[in-house]
Amino acid sequence: MEPDRPVGSSEVLIVGAGPVGVALGCDLLQRGVRVRLVDSAAAPAPAPRSRAVLVWPRTLELLRGIGVAERLAATGHRLTGIGYRSEGRLLGRAAVDRIADTPYPFAATLPQYETERLLLERLAELGGTVERGVVLEDLRQDARGVTARLRHPDGNEEQAHARWLVGADGAHSSVRKKLGIGFDGDTVDVTFGIADAPIDGPAARDTLHYCYTADGALGVVPLPDGLFRVAISIPHRDPAEPPPAGVFAEALRRRAPGLGELGEPRWTGSFRVRCRIADRFRDGHCFLAGDAAHIISPAGGQGMNYGLQDAFNLGWKLAGVLRGTLDAAVLDSYHRERHAAVARVAAVTAAQTRWGMIAGGPRRVLRDTLVRGAALGGLLRRRIAPMMAQTDVSYAADGLRRARPGHPRPGDRLPVFAPAAPEAPEALGAPEALGGPAAPATSAAPADPALDRDGFTVLVRRPSGPSGPAGADDRGSAAVAAALAGRPAVVRTVDDTASATLLRAFGPRPVLVALRPDGHVQYVAPATRSGLADLVRHLDGLAPRTRTAPEPAAARG
Ligand SMILES: Cc1cc2nc3c(=O)[nH]c(=O)nc-3n(C[C@H](O)[C@H](O)[C@H](O)COP(=O)(O)OP(=O)(O)OC[C@H]3O[C@@H](n4cnc5c(N)ncnc54)[C@H](O)[C@@H]3O)c2cc1C
Repeated sequence: MEPDRPVGSSEVLIVGAGPVGVALGCDLLQRGVRVRLVDSAAAPAPAPRSRAVLVWPRTLELLRGIGVAERLAATGHRLTGIGYRSEGRLLGRAAVDRIADTPYPFAATLPQYETERLLLERLAELGGTVERGVVLEDLRQDARGVTARLRHPDGNEEQAHARWLVGADGAHSSVRKKLGIGFDGDTVDVTFGIADAPIDGPAARDTLHYCYTADGALGVVPLPDGLFRVAISIPHRDPAEPPPAGVFAEALRRRAPGLGELGEPRWTGSFRVRCRIADRFRDGHCFLAGDAAHIISPAGGQGMNYGLQDAFNLGWKLAGVLRGTLDAAVLDSYHRERHAAVARVAAVTAAQTRWGMIAGGPRRVLRDTLVRGAALGGLLRRRIAPMMAQTDVSYAADGLRRARPGHPRPGDRLPVFAPAAPEAPEALGAPEALGGPAAPATSAAPADPALDRDGFTVLVRRPSGPSGPAGADDRGSAAVAAALAGRPAVVRTVDDTASATLLRAFGPRPVLVALRPDGHVQYVAPATRSGLADLVRHLDGLAPRTRTAPEPAAARG
């Protein structure tokens, strides 16, 4: 069919306005990118279909950059720990509220339609809209970008041009299929029944409970309005026929004895999960994000979170390339970084799913002993809580090795955050109003530098007193700023008045750390004359090849 609509053109065309597409839209609009967002559905998925209900600390940190974290925290319920139970006995608890290096030491729980509502609200504030009922039918690429064939609700078709296209169009992604990208993965193939219902009993309102029994696994997540999400492993069934309420009431009784009696569900549903990861997250001018790129086991409540993190990994890179401050080569890192992060969490959640399905025998004894040991040895607090909270995510080349405080590596996340939205202090200052226990509004001291949303934030760590190894030429922030003049970077000092958390992350040495707009380390250099020259050279290496960068001041000095 010939197009009979005017040909549209945008810098980025996002296909799919689920949480991932809308978050990316907000991020790009805030960076001044011309974005077009289309979705085949006539309206967002309505209540009471709650789907993903957990938003973990790392995701909140990133959502803060687009001014949505405080709204989510204020709307959601706070969850501060994860309890592991076997046959009714508590084996251990991973304390999320003891993660020191985040302003959000809790997970916000709320129905996905609420998360989407808040994201859409922000999108509208930023001047964005979602074109509803618009279906991507086909796409083709050339050197200048992508041409997408879009079908409108009236049946007309349009050839829409965009420099870049992002397929955030969910698990059955047309973008992925049109690009011929493979989608394979783990052999985990489970069906979960889910119900949102009140529980009459002592089920803690601050804890996500994982309950393992010979009968099957069960997860209980406290939600706002006195409700709980109850998720149970069940035999495969047609998702069009939700399990009856009695199945959940019986499962709660048998698999989580002592937590209470299930009340009338507000919603029940089921979904089958076959873990899959796309072979590549990028193909030329097209990218995949969210469920279009990966489906992981819901056991850890991580799926939507990892999709949102895709959006924040990609947004600043696309904007930098479009604005001419970054070379297009930076876009190659999207697949490398996100594929590795997703593969890691997919493996962990798949293992967690299998652990939950162990029916009995020596494997059950082994599992329970390991969890109990991890609790006693502090491993649940030190390793599992940050892993679930995703605050341990790293894009370091040897990312499987944990980041070591005091030794930041390129790719590691540092506890430096975008300024909170203006309403943050009130929203976070009344935690009891959110239904959770009192928690500090922020763990960052006022003296901590803020992350620049647009370019690199170069942090100059200058301990007072003896400044590092003998002979080191400790340069001040002004000298660093002069050397970086004309580059997309702001310079900030980390002195001894910074929070203990930040000082621990940096260690005692005088260093220069360039942070990306998503809070991950881009480059680390000693705070010396040659270290500064190396940093300048590194940042110039990221600039478009055609641009002639000014001579580094340090090299001249
Ligand atoms: C019943 C259920 C329960 C779930 N529970 C959990 C949970 O407890 N925890 C968890 O982490 N995750 C859960 N999930 C998964 C979670 O909902 C997804 O990870 C999340 O929605 C992914 O967001 P997304 O934006 O990538 O994709 P989606 O939310 O799927 O959005 C994709 C959008 O693309 C649009 N679209 C599709 N094709 C086209 C096209 N050709 N043209 C234009 N638009 C198109 C769709 O209309 C849709 O709006 C659940 C999912 C289901 C179905």
